[in-house]
Amino acid sequence: MPQPKFLKKPITEMTDHEWESLCDGCGLCCQIRLQDEDTGEIALSNVACRYLCLESHQCTDYANRQKNVPDCVKVTPENVMEMDWLPHTCGYRLAAFGQPLASWHPLVCGKPDRVHKTGPSMLGSLISEDDADYEGQR
Ligand code: SF4
Ligand code: SF4
Repeated sequence: MPQPKFLKKPITEMTDHEWESLCDGCGLCCQIRLQDEDTGEIALSNVACRYLCLESHQCTDYANRQKNVPDCVKVTPENVMEMDWLPHTCGYRLAAFGQPLASWHPLVCGKPDRVHKTGPSMLGSLISEDDADYEGQR
C-alpha cells in the first residue's frame, strides 16, 4: 500500500497538519475503558465520551475538548510514546513506531469512512456515557 511521503520524517519534524492527519478517525480513544478490579486488566467498553458524535465518530467540540473533558489527552509527537493505552491501530502510534499505516487509513485509501467499514471503528455499536451506567476511565 502506498504510504504518505511525510511518514519518512521523524515525527517531531512533521508539520502540525501532517501530524493531525495521522488520526484515522476511529474514535477508539474516545471510548471508556474499564479496569478489572482483580487483574488490573483494561478493556475497551462500548460506552463513548458524551462529546463523541455516534454517527461520525468526530468530537463535537474538538477545539474545547480539554476544557470540556479534563482527562481528554492531546496526542503529540512528544507524549505519544507514553500513551500505551492507545490502540495498536492508532495512526499516531504506528507513525511513532515507524510502522506503515493500515490499508483502510484515510491517508492510504483516500476514503475517510473506510475505517468504520473495514477498520477497527465500532461505529454503530456505541452508546453515550450519558445513557450508560459505568465506572471507568477514558
Ligand atoms: S485512537 Fe488514534 S487514530 Fe483513533 S481516533 Fe484516537 S487518536 Fe485518532
Ligand atoms: S472530548 Fe476528547 S474524549 Fe471526548 S469525544 Fe472529544 S476528543 Fe474524544
